This record gives sequence, structure tokens and C-alpha cells, in this order.
Amino acid sequence: MVTPHSPYLGRFAPTPSGHLHFGSLLAALASYLDARARQGLWLVRMEDLDLPRNKPGAADHILQTLAAHGLTWDGEVLAQSEHEPRYQRQIDTWLEQGLAYYCDCSRSDLAAHKGIYPGTCRERHLPPSPQHAVRLRVSSEELGFTDRLQGYFSQQLERQTGDFVIRRRDGVIAYQLAVVMDDIAQGVTDIVRGADLLDSTPRQLWLYRLLGAPAPTYLHIPLMMARRGEKLSKRLGSAPIEASQAPASLFAALTALCQQPPARMRSAPVEQILAWAVAHWQPQQLPARHEILMDAQGPTDLR
Ligand code: GLU
Repeated sequence: MVTPHSPYLGRFAPTPSGHLHFGSLLAALASYLDARARQGLWLVRMEDLDLPRNKPGAADHILQTLAAHGLTWDGEVLAQSEHEPRYQRQIDTWLEQGLAYYCDCSRSDLAAHKGIYPGTCRERHLPPSPQHAVRLRVSSEELGFTDRLQGYFSQQLERQTGDFVIRRRDGVIAYQLAVVMDDIAQGVTDIVRGADLLDSTPRQLWLYRLLGAPAPTYLHIPLMMARRGEKLSKRLGSAPIEASQAPASLFAALTALCQQPPARMRSAPVEQILAWAVAHWQPQQLPARHEILMDAQGPTDLR
């Protein structure tokens, strides 16, 4: 149980594969408010390991847009790409211990297994090769946690994911490993993020276990979906958030998060909107379902 005096350390961890859009503003805002309402620290970490997917200028746009919305972070922004050898060392340790192994299965080899790795390379003892993926062994036990909003969620990894990739065939360190190693290294206690990551969490719990660190508390917020059931994306017109529209965007985001901001906040300065939102943050008001439905054009306030 967290007391008002326990240190709270939260974070927002965007991938700079695109500009900040309304859906990512929701995750940033919810994690910021949760941290500040608990007198906690809030970090920003750039998850930029997938170099081919990084979009030029996106990281700067994300940081500038957060700042324009008053979402100021503590300390330096950590960029994962600057710490690559650290992840590789951990992978090497697990390879030596036999907890991880090389895998040369192709996408088409795996297609028939619906994303659940059948263990093809588990006992093949393939020699090291930079062209092979590296997979981590999982167990048959049930790994579960109680999400602050979604309730109890668990998976039996052996059955539901199989041994999973920690380094891809193209050499990129997998998100699952990097996110957990960094959350541990930075001392993150509370994770607030989109519900699309709910089913990554049991794999991450397994990594916490192997790394000997306590898992954080989780709150997975619903995703923005267009009414016809698709996730709002750039394709659906969720254009990059404009710094000049910051008060309207914050107001719309608070409304989407069911925080019921008073109408006078609609055009207040961002500092005032955030001060109100921190003082009135009610995570239990968030819709517990996985989706916030919107018209495909986005929230009315921003049209
Ligand atoms: N980098 C991930 C993303 O942009 C989020 C990671 C996380 O919050 O765990 O989807």
C-alpha cells in the first residue's frame, strides 16, 4: 500500500515513430496527473531502439509538444538508443545461462502458430549469429497482476505467447526487454499507459522476476477508438497535436478521461488547467472498458 510519503516515480515512454497525437497525449496526461497527484516524479524516456521506425524530427516534436502542454518532466530525457550495450550484456548473460537461445525461424515458419512460439529452436543449440533472433524461455506458471483500472489480468506464457523475442533478427533489442530494464534502472514505481500494452504485461512480469526486481503498479487506460472500432491513428486523421491548441487539447483530453473539467477551463492557460486537473485527478472515473469511442475526426473541441 502506497502511503502519501512513499516515493512515486512515474514515466511516459513514447516511441518516436510518429508525432504526438491525441491518443498519446491521453497516456502522457494520465501518467503525469497520476504522478503529480501523488507528489511523485515524472520522467520521459524516448523508446527509440527501432532505428528504422524512428521518424526524423518526431522525438523533438514530442518533447516540444509535451512542454507546450505544460507537461514538464523531471531530470534528463533518457534515449534508449544511447544505452544499447547494457541490454546486449543482459542478453549475453541469459544466453550463457541457457535461459535464452538463438532462433532462426522465419516469419512464414511461425505464421501457422498464430503468434505463439512453438519452441522450435529451444533445444537446437544454434551457434551465435547476429542474424538470429534471441528468445527467452518462459514457464508454465500463471503470471498475473491486479491493474488499478482493469482488475486482475494473467497469462500462462508457455501457452499464450511461448518463448518470446528479446533481440530481433535485425539486431534490434525488443521492446519488452528494454522497457523493463529501463523501468528498473530508473526506479519506476507506477506505470500508467495505454491498454494496448495490457497483454505485454505478463511477459514483462516474467522479466522482472528474472531480473530480481519488484514489479511496479499498473494502470492501463482505455485506448481511443474511432466509432467504427479502429484505433485512432494518423490514417484516421489524428493529426499531430498543435502546440497552439494546447488548452483546447488538454480540455478535450480531460473530458475523454472522464475528469469532467469545468467549462471555464476550456480556454484557461495550460498551467491553470493542469493545476485543476492534478487537484481533481480521479483515476477511478476512467472508463474501465478498453476503449474510449470518438468520432473518426477526433474530439469535438479540436475540430
Ligand atoms: N514505447 C511504448 C509505446 O510507445 C510504450 C511503452 C510503455 O509505456 O510501456 O507504445
